[in-house]
Amino acid sequence: MIRFSHGVDTSVGRVRRVNEDSYLAVPPIYAVADGMGGHGSGDVASRLAVEVLARCVMLRPLFTEAVLHGLEEANRVIIEHDGPNRMGTTITGLAGLETLGGDRLIVFNVGDSRVYRLAGERVEQLTVDHSEVQQLVLAGVLTREQARTHPRRNVVTRALGGGPDLAVDHWLVPATGGDRFLICSDGLFGELLDEVMAPLLAIAHPQQAAEALVAAANESGGRDNVTALVVDIESADAPEFRPVQAAAPREESPGRPPAPAPAPAPAERGGTAGRAGGAGGGLGATGELPIDVGLFGLGLIGPDPDRRDR
Ligand code: MG
Repeated sequence: MIRFSHGVDTSVGRVRRVNEDSYLAVPPIYAVADGMGGHGSGDVASRLAVEVLARCVMLRPLFTEAVLHGLEEANRVIIEHDGPNRMGTTITGLAGLETLGGDRLIVFNVGDSRVYRLAGERVEQLTVDHSEVQQLVLAGVLTREQARTHPRRNVVTRALGGGPDLAVDHWLVPATGGDRFLICSDGLFGELLDEVMAPLLAIAHPQQAAEALVAAANESGGRDNVTALVVDIESADAPEFRPVQAAAPREESPGRPPAPAPAPAPAERGGTAGRAGGAGGGLGATGELPIDVGLFGLGLIGPDPDRRDR
């Protein structure tokens, strides 16, 4: 059985008025969603996403198709709420799977929030952004650093809420005791270089690491909502050697992620689908349901003053 511990912090930042980030921090599922939407509905979209995904928490054992179905269901609920392309959200994260082949994690992504793994003294990005600038990086037109500050860095090419056909990137990685992961919104990596993030992510206690990362992003400008969810794998059963199961219909490749698939219509945060700022939300470890949904947006939503330049 995989045992997790985590720390999380979220901030509206120094420019936005509403926090449209939400997070889910309930073993065995951890996720961050960064909402976007006209009329200030991005916080609603990100909250709906983590609430729907949280329904998977009770499933034992949790399996890949259940997580993917949870994300598809979240997409459906967001579209039902306001119609397609009216509001949307990124979502990325990981979930522990206890499979016949041993304990694994599914890492999933839609949009441009990210999952990193701490690898020695550096951070390793596990997810591939669904964004215009990522496509330019893959094409060799932009460097990764140029993409970080590019004027069109806000344009995502995939999001929950964009349409009924949802394509979720997902990968299986071993659940190895001692590993540390960071799940974050673009308000974090948009402000901090990898080499700045790495030593902060390496702070021993996950809550202190999360708070240090968010504080550093705000000190660096805080131009967007920022959420950092630090997840530790406390211990995992040693991988058992068992025959590989028949291949599932969905492709799952351990290790490095594949190149992103061709994307549906781009959605720019800030237009009909765009991000604002505010209070932010998360599902986490509280009372009845084992759910830590963090702070929700407080509804103090107005025009996004910074939507083209987070
Ligand atoms: Mg953001």
